[in-house]
Amino acid sequence: MVAALLNRFLNTEEGKYPADFTTLVNLMGGSNSIGPSEEEFIWKAYSFAKKAHQGQLRKSGEPYFIHCVEVASILAEMKLDPVTISAALLHDVVEDTGYTFKDVEQEFTEELALLVDGVTKLSDMKFRSEEDKQAVNFRKMLLSVADDIRVIIIKFADRLHNMRTLKHLTAVKQRRIARETRDIYAPLAHRLGMYRIKSEMEDLIFKVLEPKASKELEKLIPKRQAFFEKYVHRFLAPVKERAEQAGIEASYKSRFKTHYSIFRKMQDQNRPFEDVFDIYAVRIVVDKVEECYSVLGLIHSFYKPIQERFKDFIAQPKANGYQSIQTTVIGPDGLPVEVQLRTQAMDQTAEEGVAAHWQYKERNSKTSQDDIDQQVTWLRNLVDILQTEDRTTSHQFMDMLKIDLYKDEIFVYTPKGEVRILPLGATPLDFAFDVHSQVGLHCIGAKVNSRIKPLNSELESGDKVEIITSDSQKPNSSWLKFVKTSKAKSNIRKWIKGQEFEQSVRLGKEILEKELRKIRKAKEWKHLKDPHIVLKFESEDKMVASVGSGHRTISSILSKFFPEEYIAPRQERTEAQFAESFLNRARRNTRGVSIHGIDNMMISFGKCCNPIPGDPIIGFITRGRGITVHQKSCETMGTNLEKERIIDVDWAAARAQKFLVRLKVLAQERKHLVRDVTEIISAYDINIDTLSMKVDGDVVTGLVIIEIEGVKQLERLKSKLLASSGVISVERE
Ligand code: MN
Repeated sequence: MVAALLNRFLNTEEGKYPADFTTLVNLMGGSNSIGPSEEEFIWKAYSFAKKAHQGQLRKSGEPYFIHCVEVASILAEMKLDPVTISAALLHDVVEDTGYTFKDVEQEFTEELALLVDGVTKLSDMKFRSEEDKQAVNFRKMLLSVADDIRVIIIKFADRLHNMRTLKHLTAVKQRRIARETRDIYAPLAHRLGMYRIKSEMEDLIFKVLEPKASKELEKLIPKRQAFFEKYVHRFLAPVKERAEQAGIEASYKSRFKTHYSIFRKMQDQNRPFEDVFDIYAVRIVVDKVEECYSVLGLIHSFYKPIQERFKDFIAQPKANGYQSIQTTVIGPDGLPVEVQLRTQAMDQTAEEGVAAHWQYKERNSKTSQDDIDQQVTWLRNLVDILQTEDRTTSHQFMDMLKIDLYKDEIFVYTPKGEVRILPLGATPLDFAFDVHSQVGLHCIGAKVNSRIKPLNSELESGDKVEIITSDSQKPNSSWLKFVKTSKAKSNIRKWIKGQEFEQSVRLGKEILEKELRKIRKAKEWKHLKDPHIVLKFESEDKMVASVGSGHRTISSILSKFFPEEYIAPRQERTEAQFAESFLNRARRNTRGVSIHGIDNMMISFGKCCNPIPGDPIIGFITRGRGITVHQKSCETMGTNLEKERIIDVDWAAARAQKFLVRLKVLAQERKHLVRDVTEIISAYDINIDTLSMKVDGDVVTGLVIIEIEGVKQLERLKSKLLASSGVISVERE
């Protein structure tokens, strides 16, 4: 009866569908993909929605129902299942017509009614851009659809079509919707891996929010794109030929950069239009996994691969299920070309993200049940978490999503509500440098969600970050320990290097002037022409800096020009000068270390490893504190990156002073243990600085600090202690 009514209403001949309906079914794959009962189900939804929206018009003057069919078509193209397509046709019925959730449920199924209901609820939710509580909005949006993520997919299609037809609205409304799409929908589509939808949204947003730049690009792009297509054709020609010979059926996709991504690149990297096309991307989609590797071999046989850019995400898929082989090769004319190789199914997952999980499988699909089960499990888990969490904070919620959806990225907001994508573990300082290098360099503090947070705290998705700057603030090297982005790192390093150099130049100049006065050669020095060239320095500043930084001694520089001053000290030297030189030597000797070719250096011993005479040692040139001597095996030194500051040193043959050593003695508990240990030590004429014993059950741990003359003495003592009854081990701490 309903059918008869509908038929009369729609004025449809029996057995013949309207053109837009046929197109819709064809988009889904036609009768290859859907059976007669499913087609009927969709037809019923189509008819119901058409009737419900009867008489309603869009701003463009077209019947409102056209919007419903378009939204369904977007999803049909993505090969979503018949229920989703039907829900898309009905998505505005509850919101905009007299029908209720109950009506839809009675007429169709609960599953479908719930989908429609979810979309309606989402439409009720007003997301304002530049609002404070973006994280909460995200959360609400996702929670509200926790029952079925398809709701969000329908909503994306709805939004995409609205964006496509934005031009019929007022300018103010256009901008509001575009901003909302930029702040809420596009980032979320990105999160859910729906890159195709995201890209189109971004291009549409770009047109509305940056009309001038958009028009300029539209003028520039066609020529560039024509060149690109020609080039890709040339690149692929031999590969295609050989693949065909090998009987491999493949489709070749060469997608030109989206307008928005070109614009972003120009802005972010401050580059002119011509400069942003540093790499071309080609995608090859094949039937079977083996063929991905065969074609890969073909490509590498024609073009030289760039080794470090090869990635096999088929063998090791990303957490969100992304699979693809990526290789970058040197194409004709030496241009780098990135090639992605994947199967049809992988391509859909990569393009449609979460939506691919509901893709309606073809009747004779090769996708194994295992694959589908795996995908479904992943989503079920996510949905379960979404449903069971109620009191968790938005941070915790974002945490879960982070794990499940986007393992290696977080997204945070500027005070204006713009989204910034940063790597996991990024800090407010990374954020500051991401905004602008000057903001980073002068960053003195940060407010995260309106609260002051340390610069090294980890940001989380959804955080709103505000950077506090001060003109007097300067970066310091400790920043390098916690920043995550290379942008921040390189900026800090560059700044520090510049600072250090300046400092070294200043210090070196001082040392040089002092020494010149001392040897009374200031005038002669002034008349020398480019002394740095003689010593093979690039500039005079660099030469002076080498002295300031301790890499070179002033005497090693000046003795080249005034050898008589250094090789044979003149008789006229004052007594004070002699005394000074003696003191320096004495100091060096009493410390027991000799350093080749370096004079007048202060020496101290690393507290981290306490080297004693006989230990293999190295020296480290510190800034302003002379040289510290460490054991060669010292861990602190192992992690030191400034290898050029490490120099060879030796234990001087001269008498050594005594060194403190800490020993850990493990022994069985027994009578007179402490007495025996101290007696053995004293027998070597060794002073005990500290001694402590701790008993745990029948094992005693003794810590002894003693003054030792050298490694040999220590070794003798150790073997004597070990020979004592009950002693298990003796280790130097
Ligand atoms: Mn709609």
